[in-house]
Amino acid sequence: MRVGTVKEVKNHEYRVGLTPESARELAAHGHEVWVETGAGQGIGATDADYRAAGALIKDAAAEVFAACEMIVKVKEPQAAERAMLREGQILYTYLHLAPDPEQTADLVKSGVTAIAYETVTGPGNTLPLLKPMSQVAGRMSIQAGATALEKAHGGRGVLLGGVPGVLPGRVLVIGGGVVGFNAAQMAVGLGADVTILDRDPEVLERLGTHFESRAKTRFSNRANIEQMICEAELVIGAVLIPGAAAPKLVTRDMLKCMKPGAVLVDVAIDQGGCFETSRATTHADPTYVVDGVVHYCVANMPGAVARTSTYALNNVTLPHALRIADMGWQAALKANPHLANGLNVHAGKVTYEAVARELGYAF
Ligand code: NAD
Repeated sequence: MRVGTVKEVKNHEYRVGLTPESARELAAHGHEVWVETGAGQGIGATDADYRAAGALIKDAAAEVFAACEMIVKVKEPQAAERAMLREGQILYTYLHLAPDPEQTADLVKSGVTAIAYETVTGPGNTLPLLKPMSQVAGRMSIQAGATALEKAHGGRGVLLGGVPGVLPGRVLVIGGGVVGFNAAQMAVGLGADVTILDRDPEVLERLGTHFESRAKTRFSNRANIEQMICEAELVIGAVLIPGAAAPKLVTRDMLKCMKPGAVLVDVAIDQGGCFETSRATTHADPTYVVDGVVHYCVANMPGAVARTSTYALNNVTLPHALRIADMGWQAALKANPHLANGLNVHAGKVTYEAVARELGYAF
């Protein structure tokens, strides 16, 4: 199969669909890989790296879209890219169609076969193609919070790990799923005093077994949240209620008891945020202050570490890309029901029930 990847055109997107190493794997399977010139620039991969991996470099995205049977990307195709998609072509990327009627209509009109990373499932109802980005965001949240705690960034002037003779900073992680677990790991690694709140007993049990005495766990309810945010230097918002907006667990009123210069990092901002005072920010201007509390609410945290994020993403997307290229999409989806759950649009129809229902397409 001829497989292509292009330079991402969405604002401030530096990741790329295929790393040179992934291109090499596809080439080793006998596939032809076409890469738009400069596609890997954002992760420090040069055209020469792709050539050495056996890929062909093309001058323009249009050439790649026109000739490749499968396009592997990161972000949903932008309007100009959607105009280049065609019937029978496979698009394999993040799509997030439910809140995006315009994109959905264009994909339906194009006749493309669109497989969305975010709906590919794994054993036990997991979403393995989303997980690495939560891991990245969770780990980054402590780095971002530690920076925001510095005086120059409006913070309290606290070093999370403390030093001999001075107590470490207190970190409260609300939500102990993928983001929360990874945040706690980093905070524990720095030597901070870490508490994780969740309301799922199984999650609490797992965290307790993993961290033992290195982090405390506590049931998440109003009373515990209220008490613990007053003591914390850094609070990480990491809750998720699947398919719903994040619950507002910390109200503006509750900020009053927080220490001046304490920091809130709302990772759940992409679902509306779990602090009442959260509003989405960008990497260019990531923080703002409300009632003396520094807020960091960047909605696409993994974008800042594009190289790590791209490699983490390719680790989980490549095996399916290889299957699709080796077997053809129909046989690959038939052989793997988890991959089949990724099919969102095919031959002018929306094929994913939740998207069809949300946007009023026949299913
Ligand atoms: P997850 O499902 O693995 O974990 C969510 C956890 O929240 C679960 O353990 C659940 O029990 C817990 N929870 C639900 N309600 C709670 C409550 N009231 N109190 C305490 N815990 C509660 O989800 P995840 O992968 O960790 O993602 C968390 C959030 O981070 C999501 O909104 C996700 O979209 C977001 N995210 C943001 C970025 C970013 O760049 N900002 C990147 C990746 C993920």
